[in-house]
Amino acid sequence: MGSQADGPRMIDEATAKSILAAAGIDVPAGRTGDDPELLLADLTGPFVLKAVSPTLIHKSDAGGVAVGLAADEVRAAAKTMRETVSAAGHEVSAFLLEEMAAGPHEVVVGAVRNPGVGWVVMVGLGGVFVEVLQDVAFGVAPLVRPQIVEMIDELRGLPLLQGARGSEPADLDALVGLIEALAGPGGLLDLMPPQVTEIDLNPIKLGARGAVAVDARFVVD
Ligand code: ADP
Ligand code: MG
Repeated sequence: MGSQADGPRMIDEATAKSILAAAGIDVPAGRTGDDPELLLADLTGPFVLKAVSPTLIHKSDAGGVAVGLAADEVRAAAKTMRETVSAAGHEVSAFLLEEMAAGPHEVVVGAVRNPGVGWVVMVGLGGVFVEVLQDVAFGVAPLVRPQIVEMIDELRGLPLLQGARGSEPADLDALVGLIEALAGPGGLLDLMPPQVTEIDLNPIKLGARGAVAVDARFVVD
């Protein structure tokens, strides 16, 4: 668990992902350690390398994510990453090496604990769609499947997920299943201790088969 003097406290990404996996949510295969070359065993490339740092919240803003690496590129990427992230003022305590999840689509799922209401759950299209267009839909947990389907149907960008513009249609059933594992009756949110106030899965990679949470942020109060 990390802390930052002027920012939220968070559970580290690898731990958050193992909690997700235990709840039946797919995450990329990955390993954490000091020497990224030693982490290559048992993983299949291409790889994603991420800096682990308790103070680093938006990793890519500080050069803390490198995607699409071949095995022989990992060492140099780690050296550059350590320098760049340190220069941005964050100490790299370890590296997380992961397998690449296939897209092409990215969606965002979040949950915020709201006193008196419970967990407010958000789903949206990833990247520019959530940041600029705020194409998101909300619901209050526990959410049953028809409610989850309804939330997804509310998204204006849904046709993009369904394969408009020639992209591969996303596995929306897998997305519904992921949200159900998180926010359904008896889902992960029900099991979260009160200290956990926010969960962000940004992004979830969606392809023709499956939904994989490639980033996970659990905020602790
Ligand atoms: P940040 O802290 O900057 O949000 P992320 O872990 O979300 O870092 O990584 C940045 C981007 O890299 C993601 O939005 C996603 O597009 C891509 N990415 C990260 N991990 C993976 C992965 N395992 N497979 C495929 N793409 C990934
Ligand atoms: Mg992210």
